[in-house]
Amino acid sequence: MLFKKWMIQYGKLALCSGCTLMLGFWMGRVPWTDMEALLGNLTFSEEENPQVVAALEDLALESTSQLESQMDNTLEPQVYEETLELSHNDSVYTTLRNLGLTPLLIQNLVKAASKYVDLGRVPRGFKLTLKRVGEDAEPVEIIFHLNVRENLHFEKNPHDSDWTVRKVTQDVLMETGVYEGVVKNSLWQSAYDAGLDGAAIAMLADVFAWQVDFERQIRPGDAWKVVIEKEVLENGKFYGWGHVIAAQFHGNAGNYDAYRFVSGNQSAGYYDLNGDNMKGKFLKSPLKYSRISSPFQRKRYHPILKVNRPHLGVDYAASAGTPVRTVGDGVISILGRRGGNGNMIKIRHNSKYQTAYKHLSGFARGLRSGSRVRQGQVIGYVGSTGLATGPHLHFEFYENGQYTDPLGVKFPKQDSILASDRGKFDQAVMRANQLLKGAALRS
Ligand SMILES: [Zn+2]
Repeated sequence: MLFKKWMIQYGKLALCSGCTLMLGFWMGRVPWTDMEALLGNLTFSEEENPQVVAALEDLALESTSQLESQMDNTLEPQVYEETLELSHNDSVYTTLRNLGLTPLLIQNLVKAASKYVDLGRVPRGFKLTLKRVGEDAEPVEIIFHLNVRENLHFEKNPHDSDWTVRKVTQDVLMETGVYEGVVKNSLWQSAYDAGLDGAAIAMLADVFAWQVDFERQIRPGDAWKVVIEKEVLENGKFYGWGHVIAAQFHGNAGNYDAYRFVSGNQSAGYYDLNGDNMKGKFLKSPLKYSRISSPFQRKRYHPILKVNRPHLGVDYAASAGTPVRTVGDGVISILGRRGGNGNMIKIRHNSKYQTAYKHLSGFARGLRSGSRVRQGQVIGYVGSTGLATGPHLHFEFYENGQYTDPLGVKFPKQDSILASDRGKFDQAVMRANQLLKGAALRS
């Protein structure tokens, strides 16, 4: 009875050990000689060596995984691994040739790889890893690193020395990361310190682009937190960022919380706790009643200068003295007379958008450079100062410092989440808040 039981256990054990060893060999981790020695140890009978059998039986009663790990430890893999990067003058061919591979073998590798990559045309910086069992031995495995996610593995078959090729693609797993920081010197520094990179910081800044001027309003003590999707490869390596799920900014520019949500069939947006869109809106026009007399044109014949000059704004026809309103909240960055522009005002709305108002007859009382203005506030009056044929407002709109056609800018159509989405939105906020609170507990 006992013998029968042992047979079963032994059978299992032999199979597991054998598998481990074979696997080890395929991976280029166990040299043949060690393997034969070990397999030799396992091929005995009860009669010949009862002590070993008894010992094995004891081991077999333990978990096999424990045994395997013990064996792994005793078989410290003697694998020599080196990774090479192709420099300017190298080709895969010359690199492999210098490593002692025969032209025929290289030819075969290149041919086998051709299904996935043309090894004759890999870019500079292309990486390949060689694995050897024994420091000066021939490689048993060559890995071509196609990109962050994909590797091409060439493995030498121990029996017939043939090489097999397989492509290994790492799956991308989505994790949720929570990051937070308090500004000491700059937002960027606090974010880098917290483990974010430039791309993630830009996403965070974009969520609050309408509330916070990240270039001018950031002060020491400003606190921020972000829940962000993080793409990680199976091997644990960072792959990229997904979406910002929720973000908080509490500081000099105000306290803001934003949650990502898809309402109705709109594209995803960021909403505050009330369900209002974080992205603001500009007035459609700086004049209450207006008619466009000249649109935004990259090419246009200038009526006064009599040359082709782009018209990088929109002209509104109006009688002199018509009040001009700022299309959004902001801070006046320029107020004064500037050559052909005549009397002009330039307003910085946030780190992304600016507007300018030119040829004004005059400015609203009390305003100067540095004044804060509210959307719709009258800032000046239509005139014809500077290079102007008659009274009109020349209005300019800048996105990220570039002249932009204000009539071509696409702004969110919807201010708030749909009433029917309220319940779903509140649940999303609750989930995000749990993650945000989790961050607070750790700090
Ligand atoms: Zn104009």
